[in-house]
Amino acid sequence: MDRYDVVVIGAGFAGLTAARELRAAGQHVLVLEARDRIGGSTWYQPDAFDGYGLEMGGTWIVPQQTHVWAEVQRYGVPIKDSALPSRMTWSDHGKVLESLLPVPPQEYGQLEHAVRSLIEAASRFDPLRPLSEQDVADLDVPIRQWADDVGLTGNARELMISWFCGCANANEDIGSALDAIRWCASMDNSLWGMVQASVLGFTFVNGTASLAQAILADGGADLRLSSPVRRVDADAEGVTVIYDGGVVRGDRVLMTTPVGVWQDIEFAPALPADKLAMSKENHAGQGQKIWALARNVPDDISGFGWGTSFDYVGAMETTERGVVLVCFAPEHDRVDAGDLADVQRAVREFAPEADVVDARSHDWVHDEFSKGLWATFRAGQFAKYELCVGRPEGRVHFSGSHTARRWRTFIDGAIESGKCAAAEILTAAKES
Ligand SMILES: Cc1cc2nc3c(=O)[nH]c(=O)nc-3n(C[C@H](O)[C@H](O)[C@H](O)COP(=O)(O)OP(=O)(O)OC[C@H]3O[C@@H](n4cnc5c(N)ncnc54)[C@H](O)[C@@H]3O)c2cc1C
Repeated sequence: MDRYDVVVIGAGFAGLTAARELRAAGQHVLVLEARDRIGGSTWYQPDAFDGYGLEMGGTWIVPQQTHVWAEVQRYGVPIKDSALPSRMTWSDHGKVLESLLPVPPQEYGQLEHAVRSLIEAASRFDPLRPLSEQDVADLDVPIRQWADDVGLTGNARELMISWFCGCANANEDIGSALDAIRWCASMDNSLWGMVQASVLGFTFVNGTASLAQAILADGGADLRLSSPVRRVDADAEGVTVIYDGGVVRGDRVLMTTPVGVWQDIEFAPALPADKLAMSKENHAGQGQKIWALARNVPDDISGFGWGTSFDYVGAMETTERGVVLVCFAPEHDRVDAGDLADVQRAVREFAPEADVVDARSHDWVHDEFSKGLWATFRAGQFAKYELCVGRPEGRVHFSGSHTARRWRTFIDGAIESGKCAAAEILTAAKES
């Protein structure tokens, strides 16, 4: 049986970063990846729309995401800033508003109150420290409840709920408001920064895969693709990992799979009750990201909506066949991505003349190796699970963007978590 110092499970950014750091420290490392590709929740498909490559998963980064930013500089991976739209589009239940702001003048005070409430809430905590250890339990409530608790009304309320759901990729009665407010705190309490971190930041010229490949090549760990892990048996001397295609032994194992996937892997000893409960509950990030190619839409549309199927529809580029639109919905069944007519219906809520000629999406929610999009906590999960998700269990360590601090659930958080896990493993190996 092959023997390694560390077996890393999952070749997303967390696993690839951890493997590189461990290799740099002289460890013998194997990465086992279930899919036939690296990148995990990022997945660049070059030439998807006749020469225009699409990111099916993670896409935008900002300079405040210091971990991913440092990796981009380190490998000289080309990135580009988003072009700003000439105006924002607001859709109120499918009716496109002709006004500059999303509310009528008599509600300007409400809009100001909504923005101030967000910034005040974000200013109450330090995103670098665990949120469950700070005095913000009153913010760890469903998004809709938070909007009502701070007394929002009118369009400002609807827009803020929809905006939070968009950031959380979650239903308003399930996703934690705190997890959306965290985005604002991580951008130094800036609402505009929060918008940049969502859909108006920097993108990778050659796709996120260019950075994933650079980290993999630099690390030089052994990699086995199409090798889903089924069982992890830990004993006093090491860990045996059983995957489709083989068995391998490691001194230690690093799990980087999404939390919802843990329950499908047999662990001996069994996962502790809190980890298993978290895996079964799963996180709230269960929405949709759909790419549409459309004619008859403004080539710089940036549309936010409430009472609409998508909460965001934005132009990325114009090709000969049409405008490339990226669209998000906070629930996985809002739009049938395989039905152009349905995608067109949803896009027309923002651009009434739109003709959708093509559409692409990946169903992350029903993908057995993801079970969701980005890992926004459900309301109440910070207190119960924030610390348990990254806690090591003997020789089995846990990492992934869901364990990170400032940029939990982002590419940056995945890289941060990979570095932390490698350091944790090296320390544990020294002490044992
Ligand atoms: C649609 C979408 C849009 C997003 N947008 C952004 C964005 O714009 N900016 C941003 O920063 N972040 C974004 N994110 C989030 C970001 O992509 C993730 O937080 C990050 O990539 C997670 O990295 P990870 O390594 O922690 O986990 P993953 O990338 O999920 O890696 C885990 C790996 O484990 C593998 N695996 C699962 N089960 C097994 C098994 N049994 N055996 C072996 N391997 C297994 C998986 O195949 C996967 O490769 C988005 C995510 C999605 C899905």
